[in-house]
Amino acid sequence: MKLSEMREVLAVRGIHLTKSLGQNFLHDGNQLRRIVEAAELTKADKVLEIGPGLGPLTELLLENAGEVLAIEKDARLVEVLRERFDVGQASRLSPGSGKSETGATPVLRLLHDDALGFIRREPRDWSDWKLVANLPYSVASPILVELAQAAKRPERMVVTLQLEVARRLMASADDENYGVLTLLVQLDYEPRAWFKIPASCFFPAPDVDSACVVLVRRAQPLLADGHRETFVKIVKRAFSQRRKMMMKLIKLDWPEDRLTAAFAQLGIAPQTRAEAVGLELFARLAQILNSPTGQP
Ligand code: SAM
Repeated sequence: MKLSEMREVLAVRGIHLTKSLGQNFLHDGNQLRRIVEAAELTKADKVLEIGPGLGPLTELLLENAGEVLAIEKDARLVEVLRERFDVGQASRLSPGSGKSETGATPVLRLLHDDALGFIRREPRDWSDWKLVANLPYSVASPILVELAQAAKRPERMVVTLQLEVARRLMASADDENYGVLTLLVQLDYEPRAWFKIPASCFFPAPDVDSACVVLVRRAQPLLADGHRETFVKIVKRAFSQRRKMMMKLIKLDWPEDRLTAAFAQLGIAPQTRAEAVGLELFARLAQILNSPTGQP
């Protein structure tokens, strides 16, 4: 979809874009193709697209995947999409079924909904889905965390978001961008690749550059399900004050003697700050602190 077409569709309908919904549409064909290539789609793939907007990415996804579920919050854009893609009324999902209300399975299913609300409201099996989306900036991080923490998380997430958030997703220990978002997502996803997308590729151009990040679900989980809550609790507490020693912070939640023993077992010096502790060490710390015997 070219920039001139986007302008025309919006002008004909008198649609003024809403900044708070992160409505910056990607019109650069090369960048759109790069995103779709990064998703490594086949006709057997099911794709979740959050925020299809006017559908520039949706059309490529439909060419390359077997099924696309697109969730758009803005009713005006849902209307445009219904006409462009001829999805009609058969696109409302009955909760959890994965089928349309008519029983048929259309190639494009379009939902008018708040994507974050939808994901939280209806736990689904996303394990054979790929998320491919140019995410609305205001909800990009919560959506990623929500899907990453789902029991049946997607196999791949190829997401375009603010460059600063992309850096946090790609970060490793001792990097200034390393933090809660890094750890909550990387626990289950390996960041494989990323590329920058200049602001000029969007309409209207946002104030900041963006990037597309490719996250691939780990073949072997680093942590059993039973330890995940503890992992999240430790990570959030440890980064609640970045400049403070991690041990001092997590002492608020665990007895000091258990922490001293666990840190010694893992070879973490008591003065260490959270930003210097790698993902695997956080995972092992969660195992130890969650175990009544203090053993991983
Ligand atoms: N995919 C389109 C593209 O690449 O041009 C549009 C991307 S634009 C960055 C984000 C889209 O997400 C907008 O269409 C916006 O209306 C929609 N959106 C914003 N918040 C949303 C939410 N909570 N749930 C679903 N869609 C949302």
